Parts: sequence; C-alpha cells; structure tokens
Amino acid sequence: MTVAYDPQNIFAKILRGEIPAQKVYEDDHTLAFMDVMPQGEGHTLVIPKAPARGLLDADPASLAAVAATVQRVARAVKAAFAADGLTVFQYNEPAGGQTVFHLHVHILPRFDGVVLGRHTGGMADQGVLADHAARIRAALEAA
Ligand code: AMP
Repeated sequence: MTVAYDPQNIFAKILRGEIPAQKVYEDDHTLAFMDVMPQGEGHTLVIPKAPARGLLDADPASLAAVAATVQRVARAVKAAFAADGLTVFQYNEPAGGQTVFHLHVHILPRFDGVVLGRHTGGMADQGVLADHAARIRAALEAA
C-alpha cells in the first residue's frame, strides 16, 4: 500500500520556515541541518525541497540533488570534526526505522573505537548544535 506524503511533517515545516533548524547548507533543491537528537557530534540531515516520503516515491532528479549535497556536506562534516570516517544512512517507513516522513539522509562523523549513539535519543543543547552548524558551514566555505 502506498502512503501519501503528509505536508504537516516536521521537515516540511522546517522547509516552510514554520519551525527553526540549525542550517548548514541550502541550495535550490536541498537543505542540510543538524539533527536535534544526534547519535553523535556533528549528526547532520540532508533533505530534498521537493516533497517525498522516502526513497521510493522521490523524483530521480531530486534524489540526484540530495546525493550531491550529501557528498558535499559529508566532506565538510568529516573535516569540521576531524573524523576518522563517516556513516551515511536513510530509513524508509516505520518497519525500516523511519520516524519523520519526509525523505532524509543521515550523515554521522565516526571516530575509531567510538560506538554510535541511540537513534532518536536525547535532545541536544541548541547552543551546542549552533556551534556545530557553524563549524560545518566554515568547512563548507573553506572547501
Ligand atoms: P528517521 O526518520 O528515523 O530517519 O529519523 C528522523 C530524525 O530526525 C531523527 O534522527 C530525529 O532526531 C530527527 N529530528 C526529529 N525532529 C527534528 C527537528 N525538528 N529538527 C532536526 N532533526 C529532527
């Protein structure tokens, strides 16, 4: 069964400017911002501006734009946090672990020997997220 896109989802509200986000990158087709319940320092999300519930209903052009932004932001995240590696993931539907139903890709900087934190764990301090977003924006500008 296909489930319709709900324009009241929280990422659609961020795109419309109805709720705040710590933004790190934006272009005509995509937006990147800090995850409010990070699974580690620097946990960043990339979303398309076009409505899509997940991977399966997204327009291919929109997916291509997301992929390009994921690569651009992932490079900056890795540099900003001097990470040893990166984990990139994307969930589809509740059975697949998805909790917000607007397509998004997670970018996590990873460090040797450090275990990934819990998915949708605690809320991060807004000041810390603002600082992390600034570090990533600076790395993007330096690229
Ligand atoms: P999932 O749909 O399971 O891939 O995960 C949704 C992600 O969105 C989780 O990692 C949440 O911490 C994150 N999240 C939920 N609400 C917000 C918000 N208002 N701003 C930023 N990230 C959010």
